[in-house]
Amino acid sequence: MFCEDAVGYGECTAGERPLFSHETIDTAWLIIKEVLVPKVLNREWSSPSVLNEWFRPIRGHQMARAAVENACWDMMARANNVPLHQLLGGTRKKIPCGVSIGIQDSLEQLLEKIKTEIDSGYRRIKIKIKPGWDYDIISRVRKQFPDIPLSVDANSAYTLSDIDLLKRFDDFNLVMMEQPLSYDDIIDHSQLQRQIQTPICLDEPITSVDNARKAIQMKSGRIINLKLGRVGGFSEALKIHDYAYEHHIPVWCGGMLEAGIGRSHNIAMSTLPGFSLPGDVSASKRYYRQDIIDPPVTVDDDGFIHVPQVNGTGYEPKEDYIEKITVRKEVFQH
Ligand SMILES: [Mg+2]
Repeated sequence: MFCEDAVGYGECTAGERPLFSHETIDTAWLIIKEVLVPKVLNREWSSPSVLNEWFRPIRGHQMARAAVENACWDMMARANNVPLHQLLGGTRKKIPCGVSIGIQDSLEQLLEKIKTEIDSGYRRIKIKIKPGWDYDIISRVRKQFPDIPLSVDANSAYTLSDIDLLKRFDDFNLVMMEQPLSYDDIIDHSQLQRQIQTPICLDEPITSVDNARKAIQMKSGRIINLKLGRVGGFSEALKIHDYAYEHHIPVWCGGMLEAGIGRSHNIAMSTLPGFSLPGDVSASKRYYRQDIIDPPVTVDDDGFIHVPQVNGTGYEPKEDYIEKITVRKEVFQH
């Protein structure tokens, strides 16, 4: 995105298929092109949070909205010569990092992966679980790694009829169990949370400060995974952060396999005071042979990302490389 004085970059975190939310790369492309760009092109604004207001009549499509709004925050930081994290009100100089490990082909492979990540310094391990890959697997992981901060993420693989099994997870001293029940639910989660010790972390259903408020009031979980794309961008993320912080609900930054631009925005957001748990923001090299930013995101031996104390994000998009790997392009101008 361009304005008179600066350029700003946004990244859309939608997937190829609607398996995390309803959005896909193609729906986001359409919505950005047909709905969002006409709302922002040639308009003046003094704070990018006004885009959150302009986009309010649009229902859903948070990831598309976040891509556009976050580019404006990025641009504002560059135009005003301030660090993006400072513009957001962040205070942390370094952020603790965890990793998320998917379902593996075998237990041995999972244990090996966990060891590699711990040896790299990561401060929290999260493993994906699903029916048939849960209690016994967590039990073996705990046996091998009794003291590591361990979380599990079910991505909605269970229902309340699994409550007896989910109660048994209390055996494992988990930091949290993420989104065990339906992706759009906060009601069954509140029933489940009343019956288990393990803190529930909500991910998929938290798409606005309004439903974060409802979930917190209903005690549907004790932790929120805050994803910039899922909530529609920095403005809404700040509101959710502030509401959760006031209500002593810790938040952390989830990952959507972002490339460098989205990753650098996640880092800036994670400097806010309420981000008190290690997030899923990890090193570029875990996902990309070559990231689209320079320098790539790195994690130190103790599992921290040091937040660049420079203007903008501190990670410059590699224009030539981005041009080289571009598969489609659209230019909007007045
Ligand atoms: Mg999740």
